[in-house]
Amino acid sequence: MDKLAVLIDHDGALLEPEGWEAGYLAQYDIGWQVYRCRSEDEVLRVAANAQVIIIQTTVPLLTMNVLSRLPNCLCTVRAGAGYDSIDYTSATELGIMVCYTPTYCTDEVADHAVTLLLAANRHVSRLDSGVRAGAFNRHLAAPTEGLRGATIGIIGLGRIGSAFARRLQGWQPRLLAYDPYISQEYAEQYGVMLVSLDELLREADALSVHCPLTPETTHLLGWEQFRKIKPGVVLVNTARGPIIDEAALVQAIKDNIVRAAGLDVFEQEPLPADSPLIQLDRVVLTPHISATSTQARHKLYQLICDLIVDVFAHKQPPFLVNPAVMQHPRQR
Ligand code: NAD
Repeated sequence: MDKLAVLIDHDGALLEPEGWEAGYLAQYDIGWQVYRCRSEDEVLRVAANAQVIIIQTTVPLLTMNVLSRLPNCLCTVRAGAGYDSIDYTSATELGIMVCYTPTYCTDEVADHAVTLLLAANRHVSRLDSGVRAGAFNRHLAAPTEGLRGATIGIIGLGRIGSAFARRLQGWQPRLLAYDPYISQEYAEQYGVMLVSLDELLREADALSVHCPLTPETTHLLGWEQFRKIKPGVVLVNTARGPIIDEAALVQAIKDNIVRAAGLDVFEQEPLPADSPLIQLDRVVLTPHISATSTQARHKLYQLICDLIVDVFAHKQPPFLVNPAVMQHPRQR
């Protein structure tokens, strides 16, 4: 059977292929096709002959129902930082590789977290709206705190959390992090001190969330944590919405416990038009856009193409999350 990789994206994805992918893969005699699938049936129609299936949407289209009916599939790839749209358990059971591409946007998300921190701290969107509405009103900037020497807390000191920490060094901050899965020695490379979540909440003037969404991190910041948090904190979330209990956050902003917030991710996306966050002018909102840049788009498709070449060369691809399947009869 001919070698084939298909991208079965769901809808007008942000990071479209750049156009060079088919030519690049043709050098290895690998075909490349792009589809916009909206249902499991559509995936089954277009991916029947593909050995590698790439999915960008977070809509869970690669289910047991689909994967079990794709006998040619060797590898599934989530073009993104998580692999929630692939049924990992079913794929593993069927001997199908599950890969993802977590490194393509590390710099972009770290940049966006710094952007949201500065914009929220200095009330950029409120000031911008004021000027546009004819109010050249500098009172809208209050309260703004200087960040030099501030204590900045990071939840999750992985790739993005540490890139965020590196970007802040110029402010000579005191950097603290809560991350139960890394060592103090690892944190020190980035000039960061590891502390408990309670200490982080008590001490930080600004907090940025960079942990994955797991059962353990769902509502990691909820009513109880907002009661303990240092009043006047600026809160940034570019990780996943449900890590913060949005109802508790809204109340904390109304009570002036959280002075300002910068949010790229939400409990429900797209953010519903009646979300109380929209009424709060001390919140800067962006539409889950942190990963985006021209460079990230290029890095994403280069990573994907290299990974596809590895699969057809029978090499273990990078960011394979179920390496045990390499021994499965399907892979031989
Ligand atoms: P990573 O795996 O390199 O780092 C995650 C860190 O979180 C790790 O150090 C891990 O030990 C830590 N962690 C795990 N459980 C924790 C817990 N209970 N409490 C505190 N820390 C915990 O991942 P990364 O590449 O840095 O990405 C982080 C997250 O950013 C991703 O999981 C993803 O949800 C999010 N992200 C968002 C966008 C976006 O467009 N907004 C883009 C890329 C990634």
